[in-house]
Amino acid sequence: MASLPPARPDLIAAIATAPGRGGVGVVRVSGPDIGPLAQGVLGRVPAPRHATFSRFLDRDGEAIDEGIALHFVAPHSFTGEHVLELQGHGGPVVLNLILARCLELGARLAEPGEFSRRAFLNGKLDLAQAEAVADLIDAASTEAAHSAVRSLTGVFSARITELVDAVIRLRTLVEATLDFPEEEIDFIEQANAFGRLDTIDASIAAVRLQAKQGALLREGLTAVLIGQPNVGKSSLLNQLAGYEAAIVTEFAGTTRDTVREAIQIQGVPLHIVDTAGLRETEDPVEKLGIARTWAAIDKADMALLLVDATHGLSERETAILARLPPTVTRLTLHNKIDLTGETSRAAEGAVWLSARTGAGIDLLREKLLASAGWQATGEDTFMARARHLDALDRAAGHLAVARESTGQLELFAEELRLAQAALSEITGQFTADDLLGEIFSSFCIGK
Ligand code: GDP
Repeated sequence: MASLPPARPDLIAAIATAPGRGGVGVVRVSGPDIGPLAQGVLGRVPAPRHATFSRFLDRDGEAIDEGIALHFVAPHSFTGEHVLELQGHGGPVVLNLILARCLELGARLAEPGEFSRRAFLNGKLDLAQAEAVADLIDAASTEAAHSAVRSLTGVFSARITELVDAVIRLRTLVEATLDFPEEEIDFIEQANAFGRLDTIDASIAAVRLQAKQGALLREGLTAVLIGQPNVGKSSLLNQLAGYEAAIVTEFAGTTRDTVREAIQIQGVPLHIVDTAGLRETEDPVEKLGIARTWAAIDKADMALLLVDATHGLSERETAILARLPPTVTRLTLHNKIDLTGETSRAAEGAVWLSARTGAGIDLLREKLLASAGWQATGEDTFMARARHLDALDRAAGHLAVARESTGQLELFAEELRLAQAALSEITGQFTADDLLGEIFSSFCIGK
């Protein structure tokens, strides 16, 4: 992944609105001085924070478009720099002409995520909030959007900051004691070190649970669908998706790429990997597709084995099952209960349902969410990423080691320091440049 150049205080510009046609399109410029550029494109520098109706001019003074110019003076802008927003008509050609004019006047094209990166570097957003900007834009469900906005407004960051503060308070006590070795013996008791550790541990666990829910809303759950032809795989996917258009029937062997259906259950994306195309073949292209399907299967969270009461498993299904990594949770779905007269039910590792009538589909949805670790926590989730969960886990790990090290206060202090550093990575207080590059380069241009 290409990493961003270090943020230089130069002028950057990009089209901030989505590509395509729309009523309004926005070109955004940010930098240390936008005066000459504004003069060139507008013929004046608009009054700060006022909507100024203006023509957008080319180098000959001819109008490219007309619209609203907004001028935000540093540090009171998204990036913390001087920002000029030109709101023109939302056509790709006209917006590119406005952008080209800005480049002609000395701006350079912004890298992906560079506006957000500057906002972060100028202290307008912390890292978790900047990531939430991207997650809000990418949100694929109402639930994901709600939790992204909670992170964006700082709810997640505030919880992390509270945790960091609690660790710092304990560290301060320990480090003060280190200077007076004769008091070390009493320290653990006097400072209620274990009590404090308990409180911090409990808070980390609570934050982790909420973050896990947010991460699920973002990343979703991947399930491999295994079953013989005609067992009802397509019908099941259509039931789960809630609309027929979800599935395109493929002739055997024509599905050369990994087939994925993005279905949502209570806002949690469910990615289905279809194994229908897994068969012995000499066709090199098909082989490639099969290799991809296996790669997807290896990363799956669960396997859904669909069976029809009227026939058992074939060798191929048994072979697929045997090849699944042991970490993959298995769920057997007994389909077509409308034919057998059974009632829908769920048991450990199994659900009885009918993909035709829809009986038992809700039980399946619950089962899928439960195996993903989803808990309907209502409004409390915040958007989180795998990187955040990892940092929380490492912090908890260091606190556990600290607890074992209370006999050696130096070690105890060191583990607290490491826990604090792990937690601070979430908000980006201590973050390596290459990680920043990785995070921001996945943003789109103009953000
Ligand atoms: P696939 O080949 O595994 O994708 O199976 P399809 O979803 O195409 O279903 C094969 C046939 O079984 C179709 O005629 C479906 O209408 C039928 N079918 C699927 N699920 C059920 C079910 O729950 N009950 C009954 N009676 N028929 C079903």
